[in-house]
Amino acid sequence: MTNQQDAEFPADRLGQLKAGLADVEQRIATACEAAGRPRSEVTLIVVTKTYPASDTRLLASLGVREVAENRDQDAAPKAADCADLPLTWHFVGQLQTNKVRSVVRYAHHIHSVDRDRLVTALSEAVRRAERPDLGCLVQVALEREAGEGEGRAGVAPEQVAALADKIAQAPGLRLDGVMTVAPLAGPLAGDPAAAFARLTEIATAVRASHPAATMVSAGMSGDLEQAIAAGATHVRVGTAVLGARSRLG
Ligand SMILES: *Cc1c(COP(=O)(O)O)cnc(C)c1O
Repeated sequence: MTNQQDAEFPADRLGQLKAGLADVEQRIATACEAAGRPRSEVTLIVVTKTYPASDTRLLASLGVREVAENRDQDAAPKAADCADLPLTWHFVGQLQTNKVRSVVRYAHHIHSVDRDRLVTALSEAVRRAERPDLGCLVQVALEREAGEGEGRAGVAPEQVAALADKIAQAPGLRLDGVMTVAPLAGPLAGDPAAAFARLTEIATAVRASHPAATMVSAGMSGDLEQAIAAGATHVRVGTAVLGARSRLG
C-alpha cells in the first residue's frame, strides 16, 4: 500500500501507526548504535496530543506503554477513556496552576515544571489526591542562556538548581530529571546537537546533588538522533508516529 492510500483509508489506522512506530524504532536503534549506547537506555514516549483516544488505544495494542499529552482539557478525558490500559502518562505542556488538580489525577510525570508556584501547587494537589509521589522534571529554556530575553516555557539554565532543590524538598513530588525543547532563539538556535549537549551538562550537575534524577527528556520527531547522541534517556515523538497534526498542538 502506498502512503497516499494509507492516508485515505483511516480504516487502516492500525497499519499506519504500526508503520510509524517501526520507522521511529529503527531511527532510535540506529541512533543508539551510532552513539554506542544500549537501546535499553532510551525510552520512547509517544506524544498523542490532538489525536483521539482511539489512537492511544491502538498504540497500546502495539506495545506502546509511555504516552504524552500537552493540554489538560484533552488529556483528562483521554486518560479516563484509556484507564483500563497499562499506560504511563507524561504531561509535557505548559501547565497553569488551575489545571494542577486535574492533572495529578492521571499524570505519572510532569516534564514542564518551570516555576516555584507550580511546585507548591503540584505538591498540595498530590497531597489532597492521596496518590503516589508525582515525578517532576525541570523544563530548561536554553534560549534564556546567558541572560537572553524571554523565551518559551522553562527556566534559564542558571535557575535549574534552585528549582530542582525546591521539587526535591516538596512533599509528594519526586525530582526525576530535566527536559528541554531545542531552542528557536538564542545562541543555540538551529543547533540541536549543541543544545542537547548543554542539557546533558545541566542534567549532570543536577544529578550531583540529586543522584536519582536520571531522566533527560529531549528530542522530538525532527531531532531525536541528536538527542540520543547527546545522552537523552527519553525522546518525545509525535508526528513521526501519528502523522502531521491538523491543528496546533
Ligand atoms: C508536540 C510535542 C512533542 C512532539 O513533537 P513532534 O515534532 O510531533 O514529534 C514533543 N515535546 C513537546 C513538549 C511537545 O509539545
